[in-house]
Amino acid sequence: MHDTLFRALDLIEPGDLVLYHGSITDWHGLYLAAPCDCTPCVRDYNRGDNDVRYRLIDPFEEEPDAPTLRCARRHSISRSTANA
Ligand SMILES: [Zn+2]
Repeated sequence: MHDTLFRALDLIEPGDLVLYHGSITDWHGLYLAAPCDCTPCVRDYNRGDNDVRYRLIDPFEEEPDAPTLRCARRHSISRSTANA
């Protein structure tokens, strides 16, 4: 896929389980992290912006079109120890 995206991800890699603890309290919980692929984020990645944002996917959600939390900032998530 996009090598530049993954290189910029720092400690959190696509598919990692993460805990979201950001400003949207309704979304606090455990998610699978992926690079956010919305248009503004991809544009920032391509510009070399280091402010990487993530898309958070509910690992227990079975609806294929369920909403996901987009554009989560790095400081709003922590790598979960559940997959260690
Ligand atoms: Zn985004």
